[in-house]
Amino acid sequence: MRKKIVAGNWKMNLDYQEGVSLFSEIVNMVRDERKGNQIAVICSPFIHLNSLSQLAGGVVKIGAQNCHQNESGAFTGEISAKMLSSVGCEYVIIGHSERRQYFAESDELLAQKTELVLKNNLTPIFCVGETLDERNNGSYYHVLKTQLENGLFNLSADDFAKIVLAYEPVWAIGTGLTATPEQAQDIHAFIRAEIEAKYGANLADNTTILYGGSCNAKNAPELFAQHDIDGGLIGGASLKSRDFVDIIKTFN
Ligand code: PEP
Repeated sequence: MRKKIVAGNWKMNLDYQEGVSLFSEIVNMVRDERKGNQIAVICSPFIHLNSLSQLAGGVVKIGAQNCHQNESGAFTGEISAKMLSSVGCEYVIIGHSERRQYFAESDELLAQKTELVLKNNLTPIFCVGETLDERNNGSYYHVLKTQLENGLFNLSADDFAKIVLAYEPVWAIGTGLTATPEQAQDIHAFIRAEIEAKYGANLADNTTILYGGSCNAKNAPELFAQHDIDGGLIGGASLKSRDFVDIIKTFN
């Protein structure tokens, strides 16, 4: 059985107090309202992680939004996977389109980060997705295949079994333009087929693939009802406790 996951990505929002207070609200609401075994994750800025993990009480898991590709050393301003693990972090978003676009993160760099994240017993939430141009000019299957092959398919089957994938069409992130359930399902099925071709049907069947891109409490039920969609990576709507918890409750 694939895990159902709803992960919030706070991006560079919320000061320390705001983050602690929003997280406390989310934990209380999830504790009271979650009925199923879906997993709730909040990926916060680094400064919140230690405090959030002490407030989480096992109800909500903690994730980071990035980490460095080296174990340690002279990399001023960076954070290592081991440091994340030491504050109770369990997930790390790798290859978000904003990292790819604004920080020039290549598939090869993301492959290194993924390896190190796994080595430190954290779960990568590895993002793939095409731009609007790539969608419009029809190259999107090729783009996604390349991101998978260069970023992930160097992993052993044992390691691949530990990752979570997120399909996030860049044109849908923060734009209010959601992929239709049919568009999203089509790509999720395509990704699963690529995993099957590389690692076999069993692993493909058991890989959790999240959808991300202007997902909210209103469109989540139809998106999450699709056969190959196992939950969401949520940006804007994770900054409001009611909206985020309503998305989680899609799986109740
Ligand atoms: C994201 O940042 O991963 C995201 C999906 O953002 P939004 O939900 O705001 O589109």
